Amino acid sequence: MTRLIGTRTYCAAVTVAGLGLLALVVPSFDAAPVARSPITFVLLSLGVVFAETLPVKIPRRGEEEEITLSTSFVMALLLACGLGPALLTQGLACVIQDVITRKPWWRAAFNLAQYSLSLAAAYGVLWLLDDTAHLGSLHPFSGRQLPDILLCAVAFFIVNTVLVGTAISLYQGVSIRRYFRMDIMFVITTAGVLLLLAPIVIATTAYSPLLIPLFAAPTLAIHRALWAGARSAHAARHDSLTGLPNRPAFHDAVRSAIKDGQGHAVVLLMDLDRFKDVNDTLGHHYGDLLLEQVATRLRDQLGPNDQVARLGGDEFAILSEGSGRDAAMSIARRIADALRPPFELDQIVMDVQASIGIAVYPEDGADGETLLQRADVAMYRAKETRVDIAPYDERHDHHSPSKLALSADLRTAIADKEIVAWYQPELELSSGEIFAVEALVRWPHTRLGMLAPGAFLEMAEHTNMIKPLTQRVLETALEQLRQWSDLGIDVVMAVNVSTAVLIDERFTESVMDALARAGVSPHRLKLEVTESTLMADPTVARSVLQDLHGAGVEISIDDFGTGYSSLAYLADLPVSEVKIDRSFVRRMAEGSKEAIIVNSTIDLAHHLGLRAVAEGVEDLDLLVPLADRGCEAAQGYAICRPKTAEELTPWLLSARELGRAEEMTAA
Ligand code: C2E
Ligand code: CA
Ligand code: CA
Repeated sequence: MTRLIGTRTYCAAVTVAGLGLLALVVPSFDAAPVARSPITFVLLSLGVVFAETLPVKIPRRGEEEEITLSTSFVMALLLACGLGPALLTQGLACVIQDVITRKPWWRAAFNLAQYSLSLAAAYGVLWLLDDTAHLGSLHPFSGRQLPDILLCAVAFFIVNTVLVGTAISLYQGVSIRRYFRMDIMFVITTAGVLLLLAPIVIATTAYSPLLIPLFAAPTLAIHRALWAGARSAHAARHDSLTGLPNRPAFHDAVRSAIKDGQGHAVVLLMDLDRFKDVNDTLGHHYGDLLLEQVATRLRDQLGPNDQVARLGGDEFAILSEGSGRDAAMSIARRIADALRPPFELDQIVMDVQASIGIAVYPEDGADGETLLQRADVAMYRAKETRVDIAPYDERHDHHSPSKLALSADLRTAIADKEIVAWYQPELELSSGEIFAVEALVRWPHTRLGMLAPGAFLEMAEHTNMIKPLTQRVLETALEQLRQWSDLGIDVVMAVNVSTAVLIDERFTESVMDALARAGVSPHRLKLEVTESTLMADPTVARSVLQDLHGAGVEISIDDFGTGYSSLAYLADLPVSEVKIDRSFVRRMAEGSKEAIIVNSTIDLAHHLGLRAVAEGVEDLDLLVPLADRGCEAAQGYAICRPKTAEELTPWLLSARELGRAEEMTAA
């Protein structure tokens, strides 16, 4: 709102000044030069009108800006016929163009005013150079006039650019300095061409005004070239979906913001949680719609010194110049708040969460690369700890390495069997026994310490390493299951399966091989798949699940309630269990919305003939209401945290003893 008021006030001031000037000049209109050569006046005026109605539309920062090509003709007109006629023609051309394009009246008035001021500035230069005496008499044109003409054109250009640029930067909420820093090269290269054409038009007019119409051809050619050039320059530095600057453009912006090594800046990196699910379950159309809306909401949160870019996929970056840590936190909070209201995409309403990492210049990094990398580390930290926003903290750096740096390491780690599994038990609520254990992948990285799946799973999925990774976890887990079985611990082993793995037709075969090698019965294996995994390619997913089920393997739907799948579809699959997502379980305090969700999910599962497992139980008090509702099992920190096999073995043994003891006392 204040932005709009600022823009209006500024435009009003320019309009008053420009129109006031017109009012001053019009009474002293000198028609003598026009009378001396009406043909020159008419043809140049036609040139102005023609060029003015042929603006180059250039996409910039999500909006279209216009460049007009009339400068050369206006300059010629000013020199040939004087200020009055030039103003008259320019004004007329403006009005025609603004009526054609139906500009609001205040913009038309502003345009007229800013042209009047620009022309007056050009005239002022001539006056200072003592050239006004020559006005209206271009004959004979000599090369000696060239520097004066160019100076006069430059004055026109500067006043015009500053007046219009200020209005645009005010309107777009970009700082004026930054607007010019970003646009100056562009403006010089486009307007420069026109300025250089001005002396040629003047010389030609001096030679014979009848040649003026020939300038239609070069004007059209310039129009085309500028248009094409602007399009491709824009495309090279912008994301085509959202219109936001892309990664190279963002890097340049950071570089230029910290170029002088002074002041402050912050880089925020944001990505959407589970965006892949949206793409996989609903399709790319919805993914695109979501990204567009996210981009719009981000743009709306920016202050005059901020800019946002889309770095790729669902990753956005924000640069805020002159901001420190506190300002960064408040920007991040604003963004998180802005993303909170649900998104409406073609009839589908969707909640989206984002993780935001913050890196501050110069404390966290002295160059753009480092800042982005640190913001990435912070973002990962936010994801791992499931908070919205995390500032960079070097203490966590080794735990949350950038995904890129890791991909080479992961390949060797899988090959060298360095990938391990930790195990977390699932408690059967009716009997109090441990009926299953879930294998959770861990990567003891030589340099970075123990990595949780949040630090590398996404990367493994993008780099095709998820299949060998899953295979490794499966083999390790089944081997462990056999060892436990030898110790008399009889449990089901749960293994997590990602999309790319499940929709591979050969998956069933590799599972059966692994079972055979470990000497474990298929009934002892439970595969956990998410709703989005099932929706990625429903036909293949269904056939693979049917094969697995046919072979005796149990299928469980993981993170239930967070996906966007249709229940009718799920009910139709050979599934035997749903695991209610921990986000609901964690907040199922008495009477909360989440308690209702958990309870109705348990009921729903039962109606569909499925078992219900509550995951993420962090409070033992939850076990009673869950059991009362008939929930079959529970898993969570309150029961047992994920542990290594060595740690869990004695735990399982004593749990078994405890179960026996309870049985005996009950008997
Ligand atoms: P998930 O399948 O939902 O696994 C449960 C995650 O919740 C585990 O995190 C576990 O440590 C954590 N958790 C368990 N109880 C609690 C609790 O009471 N409170 C809270 N806040 N968290 C609890 P982890 O090990 O980091 O695994 C994260 C996710 O990574 C898993 O979520 C699963 O989707 C995926 N994952 C883990 N191992 C594998 C694997 O071998 N293959 C594949 N494809 N995905 C895996
Ligand atoms: Ca799981
Ligand atoms: Ca889960």
